[in-house]
Amino acid sequence: MANVTDPVCGMQFDSSQAEAQTTHEGTAYFFCSEECRKLFEANPEEYIGNTADSSA
Ligand SMILES: [Zn+2]
Repeated sequence: MANVTDPVCGMQFDSSQAEAQTTHEGTAYFFCSEECRKLFEANPEEYIGNTADSSA
């Protein structure tokens, strides 16, 4: 059981509850839906390039 964050929409959930998953450059990413996975795979850098999480 590991808490993960959907890089597309920011939702947090347990990895066992992820609806979709992909691997990018050796790192696994989990998603709340296939829609989020498709968005991520269309443009991964947009989601992982910006790790700043300061804006609430
Ligand atoms: Zn999502």
